[in-house]
Amino acid sequence: MKFFNQTIILLIITGLFNFMCAGRCNAQASGGIRIVQGGRDTVRTSEHTIIGTVAPGSSVTINGQPVKVYKTGSFGYKSHLQNGYNSIAIECTDNNGGIQTKNLRIYYDPSVSQRPTRPEAGPSAIKDTSLIIKTLPGSYLNYGNGSDRLGGAKINFLDKDILLKVTGASDNLYRIRLSDNRYAFIPKECAERVTEEAQISMAPCLSGSWSVSNTGKGTDRVSVSLETRKPYIVREETQPHRLVLDLYGVQCNSNWITQYPGLESIRDVQFEQTDSDVLRIIIHLKHKTSWGYAVKYEGNHLIVDIRHLPEKFSLSKLTIGVDAGHGGSSSGAVSPAGYKEKDQTLAMAYILTKMLQSKGARTVMSRTDDSDVSMAQRKEIFKENGIDLLVSIHCNAGGDPLTTGGTSTYYKHWTYRELANSILQNLLKIEGVKCFGMVGNFNFSLNAPTEYPSVLVETLFMSNLWDEEHITDEHFQEKLMKKVVKGLEDYLKLCTKVERKHSGPDGF
Ligand SMILES: [Zn+2]
Repeated sequence: MKFFNQTIILLIITGLFNFMCAGRCNAQASGGIRIVQGGRDTVRTSEHTIIGTVAPGSSVTINGQPVKVYKTGSFGYKSHLQNGYNSIAIECTDNNGGIQTKNLRIYYDPSVSQRPTRPEAGPSAIKDTSLIIKTLPGSYLNYGNGSDRLGGAKINFLDKDILLKVTGASDNLYRIRLSDNRYAFIPKECAERVTEEAQISMAPCLSGSWSVSNTGKGTDRVSVSLETRKPYIVREETQPHRLVLDLYGVQCNSNWITQYPGLESIRDVQFEQTDSDVLRIIIHLKHKTSWGYAVKYEGNHLIVDIRHLPEKFSLSKLTIGVDAGHGGSSSGAVSPAGYKEKDQTLAMAYILTKMLQSKGARTVMSRTDDSDVSMAQRKEIFKENGIDLLVSIHCNAGGDPLTTGGTSTYYKHWTYRELANSILQNLLKIEGVKCFGMVGNFNFSLNAPTEYPSVLVETLFMSNLWDEEHITDEHFQEKLMKKVVKGLEDYLKLCTKVERKHSGPDGF
C-alpha cells in the first residue's frame, strides 16, 4: 500500500553494496504536515491515534504539547476524545523556522461504539464429486479446507504425476481419498484432470524391493520400487530421530531390503503395514540434528534422500541462502514516512551476505536488485545451488504504530525451532528492540521446503514509528544482521554440542 507520494534518494554504490540505501533515505523531503492515520472526521472509539509525517528535523506540537518527531519525520499522538467534536491543532516548525499548521476536527460518537462485525467469509462448501486428477510440479496437500492470507495449513509437498481420486470439490480445492480411512485436500491449481482410462491405476499397488545407500553426493538414499506413483505423507520425528513416511494405496510385497555399506545419515529402515492400504516406511537416523531431506519419484521408485551432516558446524563450511523479501512490483509494507519494505530487506540481505562471506561462508541471494522474483523461483534458486540453510529477511507491519512492534522469527518445521530461537535471542540483545515473539508452524512459502533448515526473520515493524526510524538506518541494519550471524553461529555451536553428546561407538 502506498500512503503518499515520496522521493527516495538511493545512492548507488558499486561493489557489493550496490543497492544499499546509503544513510537515511529521505522519504518526506517536502514540507508540510501529512496525516497518515487518524484524520477521519467521525470515530467510534474514544482512544484515538494520529500518525503523521513532517520534514525530518522539524518540531511538532499537538494542542500546544511537544510531540516526538522521529528521524524519519514521523510523529504519533494518542488522545482520549470527548463525546462530540474534538479539535486537534497540529503545528510544525521546520528547520528554517517556517511554521505550518493543520487543524483536525474529529467527531466521537459513542452511540456507534459497537463497530458492526462483518461476518467472516468462511471456506466454500465441499460438494461430492468423483474424478481422477494428476499432481503437477510443486503440488502439496492441505489438512482441511480452511485458509488464511498465506493459504491453508499444508501437510507436505507431493511430486508430480501422482494420480489421486477426488471425492469432493470446493471453489479452490479438491478433497482427495488417500486411503480407505484418510482423506486430504489439494488446491485445484496443483493438479489436472485425467481421462477415464487412468482409473484402473487407482487400485492399491504392491511395493517391491528396497535399497538403502550412500549416493556419494552428500545424501543417503532409500529407494522403494512401486507399481505406480502413490501419494505420501511424511513427518520428521525426534527422540528417536527418524522419518516416518506413509504411502497411501500401497500393500507390502517388499521381500528385499538391500542395505549397502557406508551409510552416514541412515541407521536402519523398517516398515509397517498400518492399514490394509497404507504402507509405513520408517527411516531411523544416526544424527540428532536435522539438515534436511527430500522425497520424490524417479520413474516409479519412491526416493527419500537424507542429507549428511555438514563436514563441520562452521559458517566457513556452509552455503547460506539469503532471501531479501519482496522486490519489483511487490513493495511489501510501506512505512508511515513512505519507506518500502523491499528496499530495507535488500539492503539488509547485502549486509548479511557480506558478513557471512567474511566468515568464510558461501552465499546465495534470491535477488540482488529491485526485481520481481516469485516464491517458486526463489525456491528453485536455493535448491539448484544446494544451500545448507536459508535465512529470509522481511519487515513486519500491522497493529498500533505506537505500541505494536519488535522483532520476531518464524519456522515451519519444528526441527528448526532452535535455529529460529538462536537468532531471536540474539536480536533481543539489541538495546531498544522489543520482542514480538517466535512463531512455529508458520505458513510462509519459503519455510515449507524440507531440503534444508530455514528461518524467517521479521526484523522490525515498518508500521511502528520507533522501528521505522531504526530499520531505515544503515548502521542499525548492520546491528541487526550482526545478531543474525551470531544467532547462526550459536545454532551451529548447539549442533556441535548435541551431536558430540550423542556420538558413540557406532555413530550414536
Ligand atoms: Zn514481507
